Amino acid sequence: MRREDYADLFRQRLSGYGSYVAEVAAALNETSDIVYSPIEPLLVPWPWFRGRVVLGGDARIPSRRISPKAPAMAAEDGYVLAREMLADERAA
Ligand SMILES: Cc1cc2nc3c(=O)[nH]c(=O)nc-3n(C[C@H](O)[C@H](O)[C@H](O)COP(=O)(O)OP(=O)(O)OC[C@H]3O[C@@H](n4cnc5c(N)ncnc54)[C@H](O)[C@@H]3O)c2cc1C
Repeated sequence: MRREDYADLFRQRLSGYGSYVAEVAAALNETSDIVYSPIEPLLVPWPWFRGRVVLGGDARIPSRRISPKAPAMAAEDGYVLAREMLADERAA
């Protein structure tokens, strides 16, 4: 896929939409700043911690930009980490 073809491709992909998306599609041209790249899911192999360092969110499962779950998982990772740290503190 050549860079100068991105606008045509994007316009085709947006052709089924109306409202402001159609306006955006109509405004696209060869100079539009369009990011077009393969989506490469990656899962960092277990274990997701070493010593006092733990991976969470995109650091563990990056490139989930088509999934609305990615930010939710990052928030959940933070919540679980905070909960476990508080439990440790209470137990000490
Ligand atoms: C182009 C793109 C589009 C996306 N679109 C969507 C979407 O439409 N819907 C959706 O649900 N999700 C989308 N996502 C995914 C979503 O943005 C991520 O899943 C989410 O932001 C992950 O949160 P995180 O906290 O794990 O990581 P991040 O949001 O990347 O946060 C990491 C933070 O750590 C900071 N940091 C990095 N290194 C250091 C360091 N050494 N010291 C201190 N701080 C540091 C960074 O500056 C950053 O603020 C998209 C992602 C991309 C890249």
